[in-house]
Amino acid sequence: MAQPALDEEETAIRQIARLGFAPSDVRHIILTHLDVDHSGGLPDFPDAHVHVLASELDAALSQAPSFRYRPAHWAHEPRWVTYDSDPGEPWYGFTALQPKGLPQEIRLVPLGGHTTGHSGIAVQRGDRWLLHCGDAYYYHRELGELKETHPLLDMVQTSSQVSRDLRLGTQARLRELVREHGDEVEVFSAHDPWEFARYTDDGIPTGREA
Ligand SMILES: [Zn+2]
Repeated sequence: MAQPALDEEETAIRQIARLGFAPSDVRHIILTHLDVDHSGGLPDFPDAHVHVLASELDAALSQAPSFRYRPAHWAHEPRWVTYDSDPGEPWYGFTALQPKGLPQEIRLVPLGGHTTGHSGIAVQRGDRWLLHCGDAYYYHRELGELKETHPLLDMVQTSSQVSRDLRLGTQARLRELVREHGDEVEVFSAHDPWEFARYTDDGIPTGREA
């Protein structure tokens, strides 16, 4: 649909090798959800524990094969570690879950609406948190007070949502998070090229300027 450049050097396993690690060094993988474009690298790390919300795994296993979920991504039978959304502990207006066997600096933060068991992943670095919001929103300006959507990205997110109310409710809470705690929590999402550019060496967006 998005015609991605299928460059092997961009795969997780190649990027990890460039950082000096072996695939077997990857012992834990935390996924926001199991959509085809978020789980394709799993077979490269067959020994890793794969942490995901239980409702997401249930949906994927019961609905696959589908446009959304591809069984080839888990044909190697990953070591799933699953979580119910409750009970968790309060985290900036959300609920945070503690992934088993991982330090407190890493949390699962359920962000509903995109898929059945969609979740964000929070990582504490120094005095601030990074919150990977996955597909909870698609365009950084959606979290601004004007709630601006991007015509193409909005088409993708509305056509792939499981619950419009839940998705918009999640975005409203993320907007509040950015407004109230933007100095403590830095958010980014999976498909926004302008956000991606913030974290790349050249800082050049792969899409048109926002
Ligand atoms: Zn998705």
